[in-house]
Amino acid sequence: MTTSLRDTLIVVGGGVTGLSVAFIAARAGKKVVVLEGAPQVGGLLCTTEVNERPIEKFYHHFFTHDAELFWLLKQLNSTHLLEFKKASMGMYSNQKIFPFGGVIDLIRFKPLRVLDKIRFIATTSYLGLFADWRSYESISAEEWLKKWAGERCYHFIWRPLFESKFGKYSHNIPVSWMVGRLQQRMRSRKKGKEELGVIKGSSKELLKALEAALQSMGVELVVNAKVDQLQVTNNSVKGVKLVNGEEYKSENVILTVPSPIAGKLIGTHNLKLATDLGNLEYFKATCAIVELKSPLSDQYWLNIADQTLTTGGIIEQTNLVSQEEYNGSSIVYLSKYFTEKDEFSSLSEEEKKQLMLVDLKSVFPALESKQILSVQIHSSNFAAPICELNFSERIIDVQSSINGLYVCNMQHVYPDERSINNAIITAAKTCELIGVSNSYLPPKRKVLPGSVGFN
Ligand SMILES: Cc1cc2nc3c(=O)[nH]c(=O)nc-3n(C[C@H](O)[C@H](O)[C@H](O)COP(=O)(O)OP(=O)(O)OC[C@H]3O[C@@H](n4cnc5c(N)ncnc54)[C@H](O)[C@@H]3O)c2cc1C
Repeated sequence: MTTSLRDTLIVVGGGVTGLSVAFIAARAGKKVVVLEGAPQVGGLLCTTEVNERPIEKFYHHFFTHDAELFWLLKQLNSTHLLEFKKASMGMYSNQKIFPFGGVIDLIRFKPLRVLDKIRFIATTSYLGLFADWRSYESISAEEWLKKWAGERCYHFIWRPLFESKFGKYSHNIPVSWMVGRLQQRMRSRKKGKEELGVIKGSSKELLKALEAALQSMGVELVVNAKVDQLQVTNNSVKGVKLVNGEEYKSENVILTVPSPIAGKLIGTHNLKLATDLGNLEYFKATCAIVELKSPLSDQYWLNIADQTLTTGGIIEQTNLVSQEEYNGSSIVYLSKYFTEKDEFSSLSEEEKKQLMLVDLKSVFPALESKQILSVQIHSSNFAAPICELNFSERIIDVQSSINGLYVCNMQHVYPDERSINNAIITAAKTCELIGVSNSYLPPKRKVLPGSVGFN
């Protein structure tokens, strides 16, 4: 029996967005095919192995308010996988490490004066608790913070953080992005201390549970299936063609791949849409996973506020996940976000590794080379969309102008930060657009992701 073109849903991209779309649509009775270009599903959430144990290629933690992730885990009978722990934060500034996780730490933060600290608390509280992101889309965070938090606050806290995360784009990040980010972080705090979640046994366990559920519902998960082009007739999608020449037919296709890739797949079928998607730029990211004989510090997250260093963050994974999970080794991620225009982009993976290790040793001068057991480097060309001023005007509608074609990816979480939870939210909103009824969707709540592009 041949399946009608209308009955099948093709999902291109098997990252968390694609897998969540597939999960929700299949529960609602749709026949779904997921086409993933890599040898395994999971996208940015994929794992590698260190000391014979699985670990995320890119650090991943979760927040206490990640309601849609809890919902998904519940559907998978896997809530036991998520555990929350106190997480300590620090800031490396003026060649010193300052704890920077709560009000007490702020009071002790020497580079700022009392009035600066009051302005810091007042401005972050306003943005995180009260501000409406839509009113701040055209105002740069730099301009706003200098005015309201003060020059010193901007100089000692925000500027180094923005520069390490956004590089040359740090002058053009809208206040709205900070509203999204701070609202997320503030909801994760209990009595001033942050609790962060991790998946026991790594995200490999979450992906395993999700894959098993998809297969039990008859979802066809095809890996090594890199899509090369869409097939479109009379402005209606008819299927996709893979790079190996295989074809999959359907009148319903959801692209969850990064926007520039989606643009290439659309190509001449709709030049305007393809160009608009192609023009949405992304930050790249590199994470080094350093395996050590013993712990470095008691901080989970250390922001590097030092312009002489390349590395943006030092994340000591084994201050959130027990060393036992890695057969006794201590694990540290070194992270760096950059764009094609940054010099870092032109370095080889080996050069990036060496540069980041030099940074690690300058922050922790007592660290000896013999303490380092192994180092891995992982990079992504599509780590996060670059959200400049008035970014919402550039967000593409999920329901595209080609009949039957939908595009849902990280751009749609704006003004919130891209995350696993937000990928599930936007996947659910996309399923709603294709007619999946509420009973199959996570309970609705007021959230920022999915505010734009879902008309
Ligand atoms: C360094 C880093 C740290 C992060 N930390 C956290 C964190 O702590 N907490 C958190 O919640 N989130 C975190 N995230 C964000 C989170 O990983 C993403 O928001 C989420 O994984 C996005 O999923 P996605 O499916 O939208 O995209 P992706 O994971 O990018 O998936 C897209 C998929 O499409 C596939 N694809 C591409 N082209 C084709 C093609 N032509 N044909 C078929 N398939 C194709 C890719 O192989 C990929 O699997 C982090 C991300 C990075 C980069």
